[in-house]
Amino acid sequence: MPEPPVGKPLGVFGGTFDPVHFGHLRLAEEATFSLDLAGVRWIPAGQPLLRQAPQVSARQRLAMVRLATAENPAFEVDHTEVDNARASYTVPTLERLRQPDQLGQQRSLVLLLGADAFTGLASWHRWQSLLDLAHIAVAHRPGFPVDPGQLPAALASCYAERHSSDPAALGQSTAGRIVSFAMTQLAISATQIRELLASGCSPRYLLPDEVIAYIRDHHLYPEH
Ligand code: ATP
Repeated sequence: MPEPPVGKPLGVFGGTFDPVHFGHLRLAEEATFSLDLAGVRWIPAGQPLLRQAPQVSARQRLAMVRLATAENPAFEVDHTEVDNARASYTVPTLERLRQPDQLGQQRSLVLLLGADAFTGLASWHRWQSLLDLAHIAVAHRPGFPVDPGQLPAALASCYAERHSSDPAALGQSTAGRIVSFAMTQLAISATQIRELLASGCSPRYLLPDEVIAYIRDHHLYPEH
């Protein structure tokens, strides 16, 4: 019999956060309560090679996540992927977290994903190793229903085998289960915010004022 996990599960929330917005913040906040997490570790990705506007660096995305999460003691920010200055992949990131000098093997880890990210999971680098390292919790996202019938076959069978309707399953083992949770539906995306800024429109009330001030002070996402 494997040992039960030590402590409450920890949420792990990776993303580009280009920029971080209230959809991300509500996902992490609601996951903490719905899934009874000890907290959420935010992991901004390193610089993607193709999609990133060159004027927004990984360090600046990290700074915006720090500003957005600073007031919440249940949130911590992991800067390692940004320091690595290379493309980030989730399985190597989780392997790093499982090292003895990091979180080790006894902690339950829960990878938090929006439904759009989950439905694309089968295209991720070494995705089939993910559930050896962590549980997965899928947040409902407007416009992205999770319909097992529409998933690629390998992901659909993984979902059927691993899905649990009881979030308490996350506290009973260190990895391996898939749960979904309802969150306040916010049809906010970083793409929409970049587009608003590029066209000179206000993004106010879609993301924290501190982040908007940072964007303004650093001349990010300039109007064109
Ligand atoms: P972009 O528009 O640039 O693709 P994004 O808004 O989807 O960005 P990411 O940083 O790519 O943001 O997303 C990080 C994680 O947050 C992903 O798992 C994504 O599914 C989830 N997410 C982002 N926005 C929302 C939202 N409004 N509701 C629920 N989940 C969200």
